[in-house]
Amino acid sequence: MLHLNRNQFRTSFSSENLPHWSCTWCAQGTFKVVGDIVSVDCAATLSDLQKYSDLPWEAHSQRFSCRLECGHCKETVFVVGDASIEAQLEEHDGSGGGYYLRLTPTFFEPPLGIVSLPVNCPDKVAHAVIDACRFYWSSPSIAASLLRKSLERLLDAEGVAVAVDKIDGKGKGSRLNLHQRIELFAQTPKCDVDLLKALRLLGNVSSVLRL
Ligand SMILES: [Zn+2]
Repeated sequence: MLHLNRNQFRTSFSSENLPHWSCTWCAQGTFKVVGDIVSVDCAATLSDLQKYSDLPWEAHSQRFSCRLECGHCKETVFVVGDASIEAQLEEHDGSGGGYYLRLTPTFFEPPLGIVSLPVNCPDKVAHAVIDACRFYWSSPSIAASLLRKSLERLLDAEGVAVAVDKIDGKGKGSRLNLHQRIELFAQTPKCDVDLLKALRLLGNVSSVLRL
């Protein structure tokens, strides 16, 4: 299991202190920015500034892009997102102060591997997890839905029934919901039922809330 450094997966960062995200391709290197971080004002914000000239210049919304490269295998990742200019607090000794660029990534392409996958992970489960990583930054609710989808595919891969049989060949077989399928799977010794239930609840919340 990959050690998860939560600081690497916050929603925004100072441009001067970006995390060294772990490379999941070689599992040995970390990603660092190569070249400049390009940021430009959003056109809509510029027109607002012309209309309301008393808006502070710090209110500029910007968009940014940059390129990351793994120091070990040289894999490249492109990053885009939103940016804003923020005031920096002055230290007690009078040092510091000024302004810095705050970056809020929305997409990494290819996506960073937030969740590590075992080599024998079924393809359909892996694809759902990788898609969840892709949407983690831009839409947490979609990411949570995709994690729930990966759970359903895991149960499929483990051969957990999707419906109960007809009784004595009569009546209609009824489809099992995800909770019932997890309870069935819980009867096998290799199941971490608490983790699966947590994933199911996360998916349920994502469908009713815009996270
Ligand atoms: Zn690498």
